[in-house]
Amino acid sequence: MTDERPAPRRALITGASLGIGAAFARRLAADGWELILVARDAGRLEATAAELTRRYERRIDTIPADLSTDDGCAAVERRLAAEPPVGMLVNNAGISLNTSFVRSAVEDEARLLRLNVLAVLRLTHAALGPMVRRGNGAVINISSVAGFGVPMPGSTYSASKAWVTNFSESIGQSVAPLGVRVMALCPGYTRTGYHERAGIDMSRTRAWMWLRTDDVVDEGLRDLRKGKLVSVPSWKYKLAAAGLRHLPRRLLRGASRDTRGRIGRVGD
Ligand code: NAP
Repeated sequence: MTDERPAPRRALITGASLGIGAAFARRLAADGWELILVARDAGRLEATAAELTRRYERRIDTIPADLSTDDGCAAVERRLAAEPPVGMLVNNAGISLNTSFVRSAVEDEARLLRLNVLAVLRLTHAALGPMVRRGNGAVINISSVAGFGVPMPGSTYSASKAWVTNFSESIGQSVAPLGVRVMALCPGYTRTGYHERAGIDMSRTRAWMWLRTDDVVDEGLRDLRKGKLVSVPSWKYKLAAAGLRHLPRRLLRGASRDTRGRIGRVGD
């Protein structure tokens, strides 16, 4: 039974101070949404909020929080359960380790899992309660083409994104009849500055393989309106995703051996 209030135009975006999350913030502010922005670095978050307020004259709130921690997740869960209500959640914050599983510290692997998987689960759960009661709302979980079962030797990033895609598709199916949408957005390589900041050499990645953040956001929001459960921006990555879904695993493993030494990057 829903209370049939109209969908609130207020979005909460995690990892909103840089990259794909910041592009979501710009696009939604331009479209008239109020925003709640989440990231760890409070100074950078405030600067992002101030710039958006100046440009679009919208109400922008911030929650500085580390979503790989219990306290960070709890702070954002409290806001998702509170009034005024949130009409859209974008679970965007995510990391990779840029080191192989055997060389990484198990604490870092656990941190990746808490941010890429547990925080997505907790915040989706917190958002869906009020959305289902109202009978409207949307959750976009930023996954990756790497989540289509690409075996990346020694990396746990693709496993975490495989979880995000499957989770979003499964939950999206179950809440669609209740008026609520959950969608996995699965970009390929996207220019966000992440790789430069992490000191990852991307010189071997061809120019045509890079997506623009604004295009990823545009296509994601278009697919959400169409009611898709999984969105793969750009025809080239749609083709790649289709191949990854249908190629024999043996061939995939052979191809992915080439990524050895470039393991675990965001977007791999
Ligand atoms: P980015 O440019 O590195 O930005 C990451 C954002 O997340 C920043 O705002 C960062 O701010 C925040 N963040 C990082 N760790 C956090 C934590 N523990 N708690 C809260 N916020 C945190 O990343 P991006 O390239 O835009 O990637 C965004 C998402 O897209 C990720 O889920 C990534 O896996 C996915 N993706 C990226 C690519 C690509 O090629 N870029 C491709 C496919 C999928 P603070 O550092 O201040 O916390």
